[in-house]
Amino acid sequence: MRETKNSKKSKNFFIRPEIFPAEKIRAFFTGRTPGIDREAVSRELDTSFSEKGLFMPVQKHTARVLVYEELTEDEIFKNPPEADAVITARPNTALGIMVADCVPVLLYDEKKGVTGAVHAGWRGTAQGILRNTIQKMASVFGSRPADIRIAIGPAIRKCCYEVDMGVLRQIEASVAASQPDNVPLYLVKGPKAYIDLPEANRRQAVACGAKPENIWVSEKCTSCDPGHFNSYRRESRLGAKAPGRQGGFIIRIS
Ligand SMILES: [Zn+2]
Repeated sequence: MRETKNSKKSKNFFIRPEIFPAEKIRAFFTGRTPGIDREAVSRELDTSFSEKGLFMPVQKHTARVLVYEELTEDEIFKNPPEADAVITARPNTALGIMVADCVPVLLYDEKKGVTGAVHAGWRGTAQGILRNTIQKMASVFGSRPADIRIAIGPAIRKCCYEVDMGVLRQIEASVAASQPDNVPLYLVKGPKAYIDLPEANRRQAVACGAKPENIWVSEKCTSCDPGHFNSYRRESRLGAKAPGRQGGFIIRIS
């Protein structure tokens, strides 16, 4: 696993997961810059050939997955529905989600040509947003979980993400128990628990039938790296009223 950066003329920071075939997929996670700047992201995705531009749902920490093909023109262009994941089998259709500590996940099934983008905070993770996305790719487009490639982007990790035991138990319950614990799901230090949200999502994907070798996980922690990432927890603690966001974006080229 290697993370790559691209800093052409600006300070733009992109992480390009190498799990996707470069000739068919453009996919990346952004850093603090360009964050969710639609112009910079669209330029990098090269959406010039796509009439509809970049689609992002209105995120609400739900477990709801949108199927792009089921959206109306009004929903695509003006009033995106509330949801925390979106999938499509259409080429030249750019999907994205925004995060700042929550986990951004990008998916691609080469056999069925399906792409997806997921926002998984602790609530979404506990409710199974990634599981729902994989299951919807299967039920709507006929994807086999074993064929789906998954990139789990920079998010808050167990070095920083203190949660209470109630949250810990909910997340634990959302992932399969019978998996090799080569990466711990959480740490307990005294009365406090620290959870690894990316690892929880990786386990959820494996429990759905995704192959571990088809899952790429960024090692970055958004809270630990203020030079590159916005962090809701870190910035809120410092008094920021509206912490910035970065995102995950994907497009399949026809
Ligand atoms: Zn950290």
